[in-house]
Order: sequence, then structure tokens, then C-alpha cells
Amino acid sequence: MGGGPAGATTALLLARGGAAVLLLDRARFPRDKPCSEYLSPATTPILERLGAGVLAAIEGAAHAKLYGMKVVAPSGVAMCGRFASDHGHVPRRPYSFALSRARFDAILLRAAERAGAVIQEGVAVDDLVWDRGSVAGVVARSCDGQRVTCNARVVVGADGLHSVVARRLGLVRTSPPRRIAFTAHVTDVAGVDGVGELHVGERGYVGLGPIGGGVTTVALVVPRAAVRRRRQDFRAGFFAELERYPALSGRFERRRLVRDVLATGPFGQWARRPAVDGALLVGDAADFFDPFTGQGIYSALRGAELAADCLVPGLARGVLTPCPPLRSGEGGRHEFPLSLRERGPGGEDPSREAVRSLSGPLPATMLEPYVRARRREFAGKCLADLLVGATGNFVPARRVLAPSVLAQLLW
Ligand SMILES: Cc1cc2nc3c(=O)[nH]c(=O)nc-3n(C[C@H](O)[C@H](O)[C@H](O)COP(=O)(O)OP(=O)(O)OC[C@H]3O[C@@H](n4cnc5c(N)ncnc54)[C@H](O)[C@@H]3O)c2cc1C
Repeated sequence: MGGGPAGATTALLLARGGAAVLLLDRARFPRDKPCSEYLSPATTPILERLGAGVLAAIEGAAHAKLYGMKVVAPSGVAMCGRFASDHGHVPRRPYSFALSRARFDAILLRAAERAGAVIQEGVAVDDLVWDRGSVAGVVARSCDGQRVTCNARVVVGADGLHSVVARRLGLVRTSPPRRIAFTAHVTDVAGVDGVGELHVGERGYVGLGPIGGGVTTVALVVPRAAVRRRRQDFRAGFFAELERYPALSGRFERRRLVRDVLATGPFGQWARRPAVDGALLVGDAADFFDPFTGQGIYSALRGAELAADCLVPGLARGVLTPCPPLRSGEGGRHEFPLSLRERGPGGEDPSREAVRSLSGPLPATMLEPYVRARRREFAGKCLADLLVGATGNFVPARRVLAPSVLAQLLW
């Protein structure tokens, strides 16, 4: 269920592994998705592994290359970290890609189709089918209102932030901060260069970056309470809100808005477990805390790889359990266990750990007060590179959390 990055990649890998895959999405592609549209550097090796011409298609589409990230505190103080640095962790390329989600998601979906997945667009899933305590399929509704039941040995819930699968499984949990995002495509934004920008304000933040073709994606994220308090539609006040950020003031021309402002949220939603008998959750459906660090697409693609690693051998054997135990993955992290029945070797519920490790080493809740509190220039360029590398998923979190680095950050 769901043809975004998580669903399309899972479908591609399962189809390539020999499974019969039916992918349902309520949207018709290409479709827009509220997002800052930046692929963190660790996403590139996954795209290379996927093959199927995906990376070549991205390179052939309108896109931008980002060489780092600039974080600007409310006072206007900025730190800029580069992906290529001398801190000892080298990304595959010194840049990451940024392109419209309409284009990126369609590239992945068509690659899944070429791999053999059957794609049905304009079909919304409403409910799950159960058989003796296990999930055994879905009930879907096409755009002309026809209801159909699709039986499946495994249902993969890749249906995003407000996942129907996660809700029907009763797994959804929420946690603060609960925020709403508004995203726009604007042309001719002044001062945009080869880095992404993150402007932290007193009551929210703005992420922006080029995505090719002269277009900049601008994402404004604010607390849900602030949106509720406003009588007027927040989208109408989008540009006025941007003017509150000192380093954004005067950079936008509202006539250059080339797509309607899209809204999404609230975030801070996660599933108690990523898998139950007959079903598992991948991407935002499993977990989405906040878009602050721009790691969601990486998590979606990596989660899809791990899901396929688990499901392909199980489907081939005709047995979906037992699944692999917790194993140490890239960078020594514990990876998504994706056990359909089992718990970790120590009997622990591994889902939170997995979900946390996949959802990024430096959650916004850690970075935000820090950036907010700083009133002077960030100490040392390499430190900024390290932080940006950690949020780009190619510097292990333990490097940033080492006492020597923390000491430098705090004093
Ligand atoms: C403001 C904002 C900025 C972000 N910026 C970045 C960024 O710069 N970089 C980054 O890596 N991540 C970013 N993210 C996160 C990123 O957008 C998500 O993590 C990513 O889209 C997750 O992919 P997914 O496939 O799990 O879900 P989605 O991309 O949401 O795809 C889910 C699909 O499921 C379909 N669907 C939903 N319900 C149903 C249903 N009932 N039946 C059938 N189909 C259904 C939808 O139509 C959709 O196509 C941002 C998110 C937000 C909100």
C-alpha cells in the first residue's frame, strides 16, 4: 500500500526477488508531495544499489546538487557544514541530489513497474482483511467507488504519515512536538546557492533549497497550536510568515509562487511495532517524528531494503517466520529487525530501537534548542561538517555524541 519512496522501493525489490507484487496508491502519478525534496547523501548509495536506471533518470531530470547545509539561528547566526570534509567520513559523492517529489517518486514507481510489480493508481485502501489473527489482504476502493478485496500473503503498509494500515493495526502512537508544514515552489529566490538552508525561528523553522529548473522548495514548519490560533488560512499568510526570519526577509517575490502551497501534518507519529503477523510498516507509516533533519527519504529507502531482505527469503521458502534476528548493520547500528513474529534475541521489542536508528541520529528536538541557544559563531568548521554529516546519515551518530565533540559543542 502506497507508491511513495518506501512503497515503490519495496515493490521493486520484492518483484526483483520473485514475488508477485500488487501496489495500490490512491493518487495518480506524477503527484506532488509536501516535502523539502532533498535526498540526504546516504541516499545515493541506495539508489546505486537499486540500479534499474534510477540514478541515471534522476541525473537526467531537472535537479540540483547540494554540497552541504546551512543552519541559521533566530539571531541570524549561521553555521554551514559541507558533506565533503576532513573528519574522516567520506560520502560517496561530495553532494546530494534535490529534485521535485513529483519527478522522483514517479521515477521509483516506474522502476518498480519495470521490475514486474503491478501498479494500480487511484485506488484507496480502506481496511485490512484478517484470517485467523493474521493480516491476509486489504479492502480497497477505486475512484469510481467500486470496492474490491485483494488477498495477500504480506501487506506492506507504506502509506505514509497517516497510514491506514498502522491505524487499522492499532499501532499508532503520537508524541510531541506536533507540528504542521506548509510547502511551496518559488522561482527566482535571492541568494540560493549550492547548499540547503534551515532557518530556526522562535516558533518554528523554514527549510529551503534549490531543486533544479530555477525552482526553490520552501517548507515552513510551525506548531499545530499556532495554526489553530490563527483564524485566517495559514497558507494565505505564507510569505508574511517567512518575513519573520531575519535571513529570509526580502528574498521572495510572492508572484513567483509556481505551485499552490501544500499543507501536511501533524507529525510526531510512530507505530508501536513495525510488524505483526502478515503485515509490516515501512517509511513514514512506521515512523515520522519531524522533517527538521531531512532524513525521511533515506529512512524510507533503507527500510524498504531491510524489508525486502527479510521478506524475499521467507516468501521463497513459503514461511514468513522465523525472520532474521537483530543484526549489526552499516556503521555498526542495529538494523530494522522486521520480524513478523519474533522479538530480539534478548526478548526485547526491537521496533523502537530500529525505528529510532532509522529515523536519524540527531532528532530535531536535540538540535533545535541548541541552535536557538547559540549567540556566537559555531566553533570550528569541521564541527559543523560533522553535524551535517550525521544528519546526512553517513557520519555515525556516536561520532557526534562522543564526549570530546559534545564538550566542543557546549563550550
Ligand atoms: C515539510 C516536509 C519536508 C520534508 N523534507 C524532506 C527532505 O528534504 N528530505 C527527506 O529525506 N525527507 C523529507 N521529508 C520526509 C519525507 O517527505 C518522507 O519521509 C517520505 O515521503 C516518506 O516516504 P513514504 O513512501 O513513507 O511516504 P509518502 O511519500 O507519503 O508516500 C505514501 C503514499 O501512500 C499513498 N497513500 C496514502 N494513503 C493511502 C491509502 N489509504 N490507500 C492507498 N494509497 C495511500 C499516498 O498517496 C502516497 O503516494 C519531509 C517531510 C515534510 C512533511
